[in-house]
Amino acid sequence: MSVNDSQDPITLARDFLVFQQELGVESVPLLSNSLEAFESVAMGCRACGLCEARNHVVFGSGNPHADVMFIGEARGKEEDLQGVPFVGAAGELLTKMIRGIKLDRNDVYIANVIKCRPPGNRDPRSDEIASCEPHLLKQIVLIQPKVICTLGRFAAQTLLRSTDSMGRLRGKIYSYNGISLVPTYHPAALLRNEQWKRPTWEDLKLLRFEYDGLEL
Ligand code: URA
Repeated sequence: MSVNDSQDPITLARDFLVFQQELGVESVPLLSNSLEAFESVAMGCRACGLCEARNHVVFGSGNPHADVMFIGEARGKEEDLQGVPFVGAAGELLTKMIRGIKLDRNDVYIANVIKCRPPGNRDPRSDEIASCEPHLLKQIVLIQPKVICTLGRFAAQTLLRSTDSMGRLRGKIYSYNGISLVPTYHPAALLRNEQWKRPTWEDLKLLRFEYDGLEL
Protein backbone atom coordinates (compact mmCIF):
# COMPACT_ATOMS: atom_id res chain seq x y z
CA MET A 1 0.00 0.00 0.00
CA SER A 2 1.32 3.46 -0.83
CA VAL A 3 0.37 7.04 -0.15
CA ASN A 4 -2.28 8.10 -2.59
CA ASP A 5 -5.05 10.62 -2.98
CA SER A 6 -7.43 8.57 -0.86
CA GLN A 7 -5.20 9.16 2.16
CA ASP A 8 -6.86 12.27 3.38
CA PRO A 9 -5.29 14.26 6.23
CA ILE A 10 -7.81 12.89 8.73
CA THR A 11 -6.85 9.28 8.01
CA LEU A 12 -3.17 10.16 8.23
CA ALA A 13 -3.63 12.07 11.48
CA ARG A 14 -5.56 9.13 12.95
CA ASP A 15 -2.88 6.61 11.91
CA PHE A 16 -0.22 8.87 13.36
CA LEU A 17 -2.06 9.25 16.67
CA VAL A 18 -2.48 5.46 16.92
CA PHE A 19 1.28 5.05 16.39
CA GLN A 20 2.06 7.66 19.02
CA GLN A 21 -0.34 6.28 21.59
CA GLU A 22 0.74 2.68 21.13
CA LEU A 23 4.41 3.55 21.35
CA GLY A 24 4.01 6.20 24.04
CA VAL A 25 6.10 8.82 22.26
CA GLU A 26 5.63 12.55 22.45
CA SER A 27 3.74 14.39 19.80
CA VAL A 28 5.00 16.07 16.65
CA PRO A 29 2.18 17.91 14.91
CA LEU A 30 1.03 16.34 11.66
CA LEU A 31 1.29 19.48 9.59
CA SER A 32 0.96 18.05 6.12
CA ASN A 33 0.12 14.89 4.24
CA SER A 34 3.15 14.99 1.96
CA LEU A 35 6.58 13.63 2.77
CA GLU A 36 8.21 16.50 0.92
CA ALA A 37 6.36 19.12 2.96
CA PHE A 38 7.17 17.29 6.17
CA GLU A 39 10.84 17.10 5.17
CA SER A 40 11.01 20.88 4.85
CA VAL A 41 9.51 21.22 8.35
CA ALA A 42 11.90 18.63 9.83
CA MET A 43 14.90 20.41 8.26
CA GLY A 44 14.44 23.25 10.73
CA CYS A 45 13.94 20.99 13.77
CA ARG A 46 15.37 22.36 17.03
CA ALA A 47 13.66 19.85 19.35
CA CYS A 48 16.91 18.77 21.01
CA GLY A 49 20.50 19.93 21.46
CA LEU A 50 21.76 17.85 18.51
CA CYS A 51 20.67 20.66 16.18
CA GLU A 52 23.53 22.84 17.45
CA ALA A 53 26.40 20.87 15.88
CA ARG A 54 24.78 19.58 12.71
CA ASN A 55 25.46 20.62 9.13
CA HIS A 56 22.33 18.93 7.77
CA VAL A 57 19.30 17.12 9.07
CA VAL A 58 19.59 13.73 7.38
CA PHE A 59 15.89 13.17 6.78
CA GLY A 60 15.82 10.19 4.42
CA SER A 61 16.09 9.30 0.76
CA GLY A 62 14.45 7.17 -1.89
CA ASN A 63 10.97 6.47 -3.13
CA PRO A 64 8.34 8.32 -1.03
CA HIS A 65 5.84 5.60 -2.03
CA ALA A 66 8.20 2.70 -1.26
CA ASP A 67 6.86 -0.66 -0.13
CA VAL A 68 10.19 -1.48 1.52
CA MET A 69 11.79 0.85 4.06
CA PHE A 70 15.25 0.49 5.64
CA ILE A 71 15.87 2.18 8.98
CA GLY A 72 19.37 2.76 10.38
CA GLU A 73 20.60 4.46 13.51
CA ALA A 74 21.89 7.95 12.77
CA ARG A 75 24.05 9.62 10.20
CA GLY A 76 27.83 9.48 10.11
CA LYS A 77 30.18 12.36 9.30
CA GLU A 78 29.85 12.01 5.53
CA GLU A 79 26.05 11.85 5.72
CA ASP A 80 26.02 15.04 7.79
CA LEU A 81 28.04 16.84 5.09
CA GLN A 82 25.89 15.56 2.22
CA GLY A 83 22.51 15.44 3.98
CA VAL A 84 21.84 11.93 2.59
CA PRO A 85 21.70 8.69 4.63
CA PHE A 86 24.12 5.81 4.09
CA VAL A 87 26.64 7.36 1.72
CA GLY A 88 29.92 6.08 3.23
CA ALA A 89 31.37 2.56 3.17
CA ALA A 90 28.35 1.23 5.08
CA GLY A 91 26.12 2.93 2.52
CA GLU A 92 27.91 1.18 -0.35
CA LEU A 93 27.35 -2.13 1.35
CA LEU A 94 23.70 -1.30 1.96
CA THR A 95 23.30 -0.53 -1.76
CA LYS A 96 24.77 -3.98 -2.54
CA MET A 97 22.46 -5.63 0.03
CA ILE A 98 19.44 -3.98 -1.62
CA ARG A 99 20.64 -5.10 -5.06
CA GLY A 100 21.17 -8.59 -3.62
CA ILE A 101 17.43 -8.89 -3.05
CA LYS A 102 16.79 -7.65 -6.59
CA LEU A 103 15.68 -4.16 -5.67
CA ASP A 104 17.27 -0.81 -6.37
CA ARG A 105 18.08 1.96 -3.88
CA ASN A 106 15.61 4.14 -5.77
CA ASP A 107 12.82 1.60 -5.20
CA VAL A 108 13.10 1.70 -1.41
CA TYR A 109 13.14 4.42 1.23
CA ILE A 110 16.07 4.78 3.63
CA ALA A 111 15.87 6.68 6.91
CA ASN A 112 17.40 6.73 10.37
CA VAL A 113 15.88 6.76 13.86
CA ILE A 114 17.92 9.85 14.74
CA LYS A 115 18.19 12.58 12.12
CA CYS A 116 21.20 14.42 13.64
CA ARG A 117 24.25 12.47 14.84
CA PRO A 118 25.33 12.92 18.46
CA PRO A 119 28.81 14.48 18.76
CA GLY A 120 31.75 12.07 18.86
CA ASN A 121 29.48 9.26 17.65
CA ARG A 122 28.22 8.68 21.20
CA ASP A 123 24.97 6.75 21.59
CA PRO A 124 21.84 8.89 21.37
CA ARG A 125 20.38 9.77 24.78
CA SER A 126 16.82 8.80 25.67
CA ASP A 127 15.64 12.43 25.51
CA GLU A 128 17.14 12.76 22.00
CA ILE A 129 15.39 9.56 20.90
CA ALA A 130 12.12 10.84 22.39
CA SER A 131 12.50 14.11 20.44
CA CYS A 132 13.41 12.46 17.16
CA GLU A 133 11.37 9.26 16.99
CA PRO A 134 8.09 11.04 16.19
CA HIS A 135 9.70 12.25 12.96
CA LEU A 136 10.38 8.67 11.97
CA LEU A 137 6.84 7.62 12.92
CA LYS A 138 5.42 10.33 10.76
CA GLN A 139 7.65 9.26 7.86
CA ILE A 140 6.33 5.71 8.25
CA VAL A 141 2.72 6.90 8.34
CA LEU A 142 3.24 8.98 5.18
CA ILE A 143 5.18 6.30 3.26
CA GLN A 144 3.09 3.34 4.46
CA PRO A 145 5.67 0.65 3.62
CA LYS A 146 4.63 -3.00 3.51
CA VAL A 147 7.87 -4.14 5.11
CA ILE A 148 10.42 -2.40 7.32
CA CYS A 149 13.98 -3.65 7.69
CA THR A 150 15.80 -2.27 10.71
CA LEU A 151 19.58 -2.12 10.41
CA GLY A 152 21.45 -2.79 13.63
CA ARG A 153 20.68 -3.18 17.29
CA PHE A 154 19.77 0.42 18.00
CA ALA A 155 17.01 0.69 15.36
CA ALA A 156 15.59 -2.75 16.19
CA GLN A 157 15.57 -2.15 19.93
CA THR A 158 14.04 1.30 19.55
CA LEU A 159 11.22 0.26 17.25
CA LEU A 160 10.49 -3.02 19.00
CA ARG A 161 10.84 -1.57 22.51
CA SER A 162 13.25 -4.38 23.34
CA THR A 163 16.58 -4.74 25.07
CA ASP A 164 17.39 -8.07 23.42
CA SER A 165 20.63 -8.50 21.49
CA MET A 166 20.71 -8.38 17.71
CA GLY A 167 21.45 -12.09 17.67
CA ARG A 168 18.20 -12.78 19.52
CA LEU A 169 16.08 -10.27 17.60
CA ARG A 170 17.07 -11.23 14.05
CA GLY A 171 15.73 -14.12 12.00
CA LYS A 172 12.06 -13.35 12.70
CA ILE A 173 9.27 -11.19 11.37
CA TYR A 174 7.58 -8.83 13.82
CA SER A 175 4.46 -6.73 13.47
CA TYR A 176 5.14 -3.05 13.95
CA ASN A 177 1.71 -1.48 14.19
CA GLY A 178 0.52 -3.84 11.48
CA ILE A 179 3.62 -3.41 9.28
CA SER A 180 5.98 -6.39 8.93
CA LEU A 181 9.36 -5.66 10.47
CA VAL A 182 12.50 -7.70 9.78
CA PRO A 183 15.53 -6.81 11.92
CA THR A 184 19.02 -7.48 10.67
CA TYR A 185 22.62 -6.43 11.28
CA HIS A 186 23.88 -2.95 10.44
CA PRO A 187 26.07 -2.79 7.30
CA ALA A 188 28.81 -1.03 9.32
CA ALA A 189 28.85 -4.01 11.69
CA LEU A 190 29.09 -6.38 8.72
CA LEU A 191 32.22 -4.56 7.56
CA ARG A 192 33.85 -5.48 10.88
CA ASN A 193 32.25 -8.91 11.40
CA GLU A 194 32.41 -11.12 8.35
CA GLN A 195 30.59 -13.93 10.21
CA TRP A 196 27.36 -11.90 10.35
CA LYS A 197 27.06 -11.70 6.56
CA ARG A 198 25.40 -15.09 6.21
CA PRO A 199 22.64 -14.49 8.80
CA THR A 200 22.10 -11.05 7.24
CA TRP A 201 21.58 -12.68 3.85
CA GLU A 202 19.01 -15.01 5.46
CA ASP A 203 17.21 -11.98 6.93
CA LEU A 204 17.24 -10.19 3.58
CA LYS A 205 15.75 -13.23 1.87
CA LEU A 206 13.06 -13.30 4.56
CA LEU A 207 12.39 -9.62 3.91
CA ARG A 208 12.03 -10.15 0.16
CA PHE A 209 9.75 -13.16 0.66
CA GLU A 210 7.59 -11.23 3.13
CA TYR A 211 7.38 -8.33 0.69
CA ASP A 212 6.16 -10.14 -2.41
CA GLY A 213 6.71 -13.86 -2.05
CA LEU A 214 9.87 -13.92 -4.18
CA GLU A 215 12.18 -16.75 -3.09
CA LEU A 216 15.88 -16.01 -3.57
N1 URA B 1 24.74 6.24 7.95
C1 URA B 1 23.43 6.42 8.20
O1 URA B 1 22.75 7.21 7.55
N2 URA B 1 22.86 5.67 9.17
C2 URA B 1 23.54 4.79 9.89
O2 URA B 1 22.95 4.12 10.73
C3 URA B 1 24.92 4.65 9.61
C4 URA B 1 25.49 5.38 8.64
